[in-house]
Amino acid sequence: MPENLIISGHRIPSSTGETFNVIEPATGKVLAEVAKAGPADVDAAMGAAQRAFDDGRGTWARTNATERGRVLHRVAALIREREDLLATTEARGAGHPIGDARWEVGAAAATFEYYAGAANKHMGSVVPVQDAGLDVVLREPVGPVALIVPWNFPLLIACWKLAPALACGNPVVLKPASLTPLTALLLGDILVDAGVPADHVHVLPGPGGIIGDALVGDPRTAKVSFTGETTTGASILKASADHIARVSLELGGKSAAIVFADADVEAAAADLPMSVFGNAGQDCCARSRILVERPVYDRFVDLFCERSSSIAVGDPLDTATEMGPLISAGQRQVALDYVEIAASEGARVVQGGVDPGGDGYFLTPAVVADVDNSMRVAREEIFGPVASILPFDSEEESIRVANDSDYGLSGSLWTGSATRAIRVARSLRTGTLSVNTNRSVRVEAPFGGFKKSGLGRELGMQAMDAYTEVKNVFFSE
Ligand code: NAP
Repeated sequence: MPENLIISGHRIPSSTGETFNVIEPATGKVLAEVAKAGPADVDAAMGAAQRAFDDGRGTWARTNATERGRVLHRVAALIREREDLLATTEARGAGHPIGDARWEVGAAAATFEYYAGAANKHMGSVVPVQDAGLDVVLREPVGPVALIVPWNFPLLIACWKLAPALACGNPVVLKPASLTPLTALLLGDILVDAGVPADHVHVLPGPGGIIGDALVGDPRTAKVSFTGETTTGASILKASADHIARVSLELGGKSAAIVFADADVEAAAADLPMSVFGNAGQDCCARSRILVERPVYDRFVDLFCERSSSIAVGDPLDTATEMGPLISAGQRQVALDYVEIAASEGARVVQGGVDPGGDGYFLTPAVVADVDNSMRVAREEIFGPVASILPFDSEEESIRVANDSDYGLSGSLWTGSATRAIRVARSLRTGTLSVNTNRSVRVEAPFGGFKKSGLGRELGMQAMDAYTEVKNVFFSE
């Protein structure tokens, strides 16, 4: 039986009856058949979402924020209860090692817990105006929101959008990536089971070029929250212009990790490999440019390679696995191509980048040293397990090279000097930075990019701002 899509909380076939296959990246075989939404389904979902928002002012948007928070707590509890199903589906559908997939389920639940608590703490304000009376600033839900997510963290990124959107009182239309629609559908079921009004819940798997486009161009879409490639983000920005939809974009990255000679080099070399090779490098925050100060460069490269070559690549369902397959044969080929490009541009391919054979889309972690920042391997987002290591000679040079990128999403800096940490952190043009660690994202803190890495912020209370409109009301005395 195909997995049906969700309109108004109900699992139904697509309007055309069409389906598509989801492939398991570890085996290359069909994992599931899923209903393929078309424009008529977008129309039905958006119509229902708009009616729910307009007529539903007595229900979800007007439900007091504390009660909305209670429902979101039930969502979190159901995510935790269904961990086995969600984690196994994510491991098989997205190729995540099962340990990572279980972590992702916990992080998904924690996201709902955070926004359950945020619902009744997101406030307006009173403005001391000159006129006699009372001037208040209200925060109101923006309306039906289109939430478009990529395939690299399908469950978690969906939750980053769903939880604040619902906490603020908006109907949601979720469009998962075609490669990984399964956990989004399970999430849709959870929302309804937890008590989110059914007419506020819509999940539409289907081709981005058709239904993503239809969603963005629909005048009933009040806001688009998109995570994906920079080029897709640019086209969404243009397509939403005619009806002035609110847009937030989380896009690509080419983040730098800077390792100074005064750092704990062993700790940096032990930690950095999984910041590039985690999720097989398919991570927008991947520290894929590693800048290392010349005096410790050779030692760092040796230590980094030692740890990288010990990474267990294999079956995502094996608890010992650290790195699963890439999402598709095409994505693996992109990574292989970049290893060749790096060699042809004069970089030193130290190890990895080898297809171990078999039916799945596996690749061993590739380490490319002696990279110059002008090379394509340092400038372009690869979204695969390819780490570039670049030497530098001074603090000024490290800042210049780190900032010399079209992107500015994430990054880290490793140093034993607090004053240097402050100085360099303030000089880097990036939305998220971690010092002496590589962990980028925390649900309580804003996340997003500078430059071509995006527009707006997710997570933290900033996301609550992003899913609300500001209304100013003046009461005359
Ligand atoms: P993508 O190709 O841009 O697709 C992302 C989503 O957009 C998918 O659901 C896709 O649907 C849909 N889409 C495609 N064309 C569309 C259109 N014209 N209108 C509306 N929607 C459309 O990105 P991806 O390959 O899935 O993901 C990898 C990219 O995401 C990388 O660049 C990565 O850096 C970025 N990313 C960024 C962050 C962040 O927080 N900054 C986080 C994760 C990933 P289909 O799947 O049906 O094509």
